[in-house]
Amino acid sequence: MTAEVINLGPVSVYLGAKSGKYPDGNQVIVRGKEMSVAFDTPLVSLSIAQVLRHVDQVVLGHAHEDHLVGLHLIPEVPVQAPLADLKAVQSEAGLAAHYGYRPQTLAKVMPRMIKDFHYLPRPDATGYADGATWDLGGGVKIRAIHMPGHTSGHTVLLVEPEGIAFIGDIDLSGFGPYYGDATSNLAQFRKSMLAVEHIPAKVWITSHHKAVIRDRDQFLSLLRAFRQKVDDRDTAILDSIGSLAPSFEEIARRRFVYPEDYESDFVPDVERHCLQQHLSGLVQMGRLALREGRYQRT
Ligand SMILES: [Zn+2]
Repeated sequence: MTAEVINLGPVSVYLGAKSGKYPDGNQVIVRGKEMSVAFDTPLVSLSIAQVLRHVDQVVLGHAHEDHLVGLHLIPEVPVQAPLADLKAVQSEAGLAAHYGYRPQTLAKVMPRMIKDFHYLPRPDATGYADGATWDLGGGVKIRAIHMPGHTSGHTVLLVEPEGIAFIGDIDLSGFGPYYGDATSNLAQFRKSMLAVEHIPAKVWITSHHKAVIRDRDQFLSLLRAFRQKVDDRDTAILDSIGSLAPSFEEIARRRFVYPEDYESDFVPDVERHCLQQHLSGLVQMGRLALREGRYQRT
C-alpha cells in the first residue's frame, strides 16, 4: 500500500484517507541534509512503513491517539513531544489522564486506543519546550511554536526558511475546534486561533481533511470559519437558555458540539466538558450570570 504524496521542497506530505479525515491523518516528513524528521505518525504511516522506518526522529505536534499510531513500528527511533503532552506518550495512565473522561468511559475508550490505533507507550520519549529548534542540515530547520488549547502542549511546527507550517489539529475542518479533553482549554484555543494567523508561513498543513493550503486568503477564510464555530456554539447555548434560568444539568440534556446522530462512547463526557468551558467563558464575558447554580442571560 502507498499514499498520495505532495512534495513541498524538503517537506513531503503523505495524505491519509479522505485527506486525513479522522480517524486517519496526514503524515509529514521533513528531510534535511543530515537527518529527516516525521511530524506525528497517523494511521496512514502504516501504509508507508518503509518511509517511516528511514526517519531519524519523530517530533510530535501534540499527543492524541490518531497521531501516535506508527510509533510501534519504529521503537528504536527517538520521539519528542511537547512537554505538556509528554506523559500521554509515555504511559497508558498518562494518556487516560490526558483525556480525563469518567472511569466508566475510559474503560470503554482505552482498549480501542490499543486495538484501533496501536497505542504503545513510549517511556523513552522526551519533551521539548516552546521555541525549540531542530537543525536538519542543508539549511533546513524546524521551530516549535506553542499553540495550546486542543491539548495543553499542542504546538505548530514551522519548517524554515520555506515557511511551511504544520498546524496539526488547528485543522480548519468543518467540525470546528475540538477542546473536549481534560488537557484541552477553550480560552487558550481562542488565543491560538488568533495567533496562528501571524506565524510567518506561506504554506499550511493540517493533520486532518484540509491537508495542504498554499493560498493565504484561503487559509484566512478557513481560519475565520473555524473560529466562527466556537461563536456558533456560544450562540446555540445562549439560545437554548433563552429566558429560562436552567442548571448545568438541564442545559447539558442537549448537545452543542456533536450532531445528535453521532454515537461514540466519549461523546457525553466531551459534550459536558465543552459545555462547561463555554458557560464559564460566557459568564466571564458578562453574557451570562450564574446565581445559585442557575444560568441567566444578562
Ligand atoms: Zn488531536
